[in-house]
Amino acid sequence: MTTNAPIDCDVHPTVPGLSALYPYLDEMWREQAIRRGFDELNTIAYPANSPLSVRADWRDAAGKPASTAERLVAEALVPFGTGTAILNCLYGTASMFSEDLQAAFCKALNDWIAHEWLDRDARLRASIVVPLTNAEMAVTEIERRATDPRFVQVLLPVSGEVPLGRRQNWPIYAAAERHHLPVGVHAGSSYRHPVTGVGWPGSYTEDYVNQAVGFQSALSSLLAEGVFAKFPDLTVVLMESGVSWLPAYMWRFTKFWKGLRSEIPWVSDPPGEILRERVRLTSQPFDAPPDPGGIDRLMNQIGSDEMLLFATDYPHWQFDGDAAMPAGVSPALRHKMMVENPLRTYARLRETVP
Ligand code: ZN
Repeated sequence: MTTNAPIDCDVHPTVPGLSALYPYLDEMWREQAIRRGFDELNTIAYPANSPLSVRADWRDAAGKPASTAERLVAEALVPFGTGTAILNCLYGTASMFSEDLQAAFCKALNDWIAHEWLDRDARLRASIVVPLTNAEMAVTEIERRATDPRFVQVLLPVSGEVPLGRRQNWPIYAAAERHHLPVGVHAGSSYRHPVTGVGWPGSYTEDYVNQAVGFQSALSSLLAEGVFAKFPDLTVVLMESGVSWLPAYMWRFTKFWKGLRSEIPWVSDPPGEILRERVRLTSQPFDAPPDPGGIDRLMNQIGSDEMLLFATDYPHWQFDGDAAMPAGVSPALRHKMMVENPLRTYARLRETVP
């Protein structure tokens, strides 16, 4: 592995079943999970009984994707020449109402990732999954797992309990900044609040398309509440957000900031500049024109070639074959997205990737 090998910033391991976490749960919580008959937490994001959104060639005989480190490396790293991949485990811990239970399952999930994935392949890194309902417990989990340099990021869903920038979340950002961990904000939710502002959508299609609006709301909250001013060394990575909405969003926020900035005086620089310096976005799903001209125009509108990070979003079905990188991306931008930008974003990759 060299620093010229691509770095995949968003891949998803699958928890094979709730019982896989039992060895990593404290005895009290393991006994409760069994006695109370907890159901699987894999499918809260999908309509009941629908299959997980996964490419057909990445399913095993039972329909499950990404079930072992060996499989993930063979399917998500080898075909793309990837040297390092960051695991973002999307499991339904956020759906639990009990703060203690959520903290216990996040702890078990992170330990399961360390032992069943990171210990099995030196090319793998991971994000720390944290409880959303209690920032103090989230900080405890960050402190506990940050001692392991293979954990390179803190993972939050874009739509959790409250808008991301609210003060109650600030201890999480302080802990992340202290340990040089970006906060990775991934599409998803605690599913206690609809993705729209006025109620629940009627289809998964509507929910997934609207995730982009959720990301805009999250950025607005982080900007307006002053998170970027309060935590000057914090980087935020948007994952599975799409990218083509960004220029219009930056223009809109900057335009209204010019007239309304007295209300949020801590936003002292033009918002577009702050976002270009402090926010990164993973590249799948890539929702922009695939031709070179279209991509050049998009990059000019974004105004930076340092914001995009290569990702396959494995095993989700965002592209076919090995076309993880849109065909119109220039060789120079390709290298930036695959190597330079991830290394600049993730301090711990700079320390641990040889
Ligand atoms: Zn993803």
